[in-house]
Amino acid sequence: MIEIKNLDFEYEDGTMALQDVNLTIKKGEKIAIMGPNGSGKSTLFLCLNGVRKPTKGSILVKGEPIIYNRKGLKQLRQKIGIVFQNPDNQLFSADVFQEISFGPMNLGLDKEVVRERVEDVMSSLHIEHLRKRPTHFLSGGQKKQVAIADILAMNPEVILFDEPTAALDSYHSRIVSKLIDELCESGITVIQATHDSDYAMAWADQIVVISDGKLLAKDTPQNIFGNVELRTKAYIEEPNVMKVYHSLCEANVIDELKECPRSIEALVGEVETIFYM
Ligand code: ADP
Repeated sequence: MIEIKNLDFEYEDGTMALQDVNLTIKKGEKIAIMGPNGSGKSTLFLCLNGVRKPTKGSILVKGEPIIYNRKGLKQLRQKIGIVFQNPDNQLFSADVFQEISFGPMNLGLDKEVVRERVEDVMSSLHIEHLRKRPTHFLSGGQKKQVAIADILAMNPEVILFDEPTAALDSYHSRIVSKLIDELCESGITVIQATHDSDYAMAWADQIVVISDGKLLAKDTPQNIFGNVELRTKAYIEEPNVMKVYHSLCEANVIDELKECPRSIEALVGEVETIFYM
């Protein structure tokens, strides 16, 4: 679905933010991108969304290279939407309804079609009650929901989330995580930058590790988190489930399983099976 080939990106001041990145993302894949601050995750997203044009290399979407003119970028942004880390960088309309309508209106869709789409999206996100609220008076969690609604109203095939739960309380984090799960179930390809190892372990099909603008690995969560050298190099925490699993194995409480369970709940399930068999 997306092929990134030999991608370099250099900012105007000479900062090399990405170097020789090669990555293939399949339709429906759940990808977590991990790496320390300043490693190039946001820049990669901006390249995927056409906001930034690679200095070298190419990005193919469904086999076609991105075309960097008005029409090409409009088409690209219909397919690939980005939810920025800070919703204040994304929301600019006076009220929520206008905000969510902006994208589909800009596509030149009929007014009635736009209205229906906006209603559908607000209903699926349970934010109908916010429709007339000024966007700048919303809480952080509500702004995030509206920013996601903005993107969903475009019917994208891929959504890029830049640390979607950063700065959210646990209640709103859960709402956003649940919503992301629903998007994945509906067939949308989701790529998210995150520092949360527990979450990435449980959620991702594949984890991409970036450090200093270079792609170090793309592999299953178990293989990525099981690689101590890689984790150390990219400052990635070991997930709690893996720490507990290794302790249980070392203490001979359980025998090694084929692979480490991906969540504490799954580990508890394994332990219960062993003890109650
Ligand atoms: P991450 O999202 O992983 O924190 P970024 O993609 O934001 O990383 O940054 C990658 C590198 O590019 C960093 O060295 C950062 O300082 C630099 N950078 C980001 N934005 C700009 C910019 N507008 N101009 C110059 N350098 C930038």
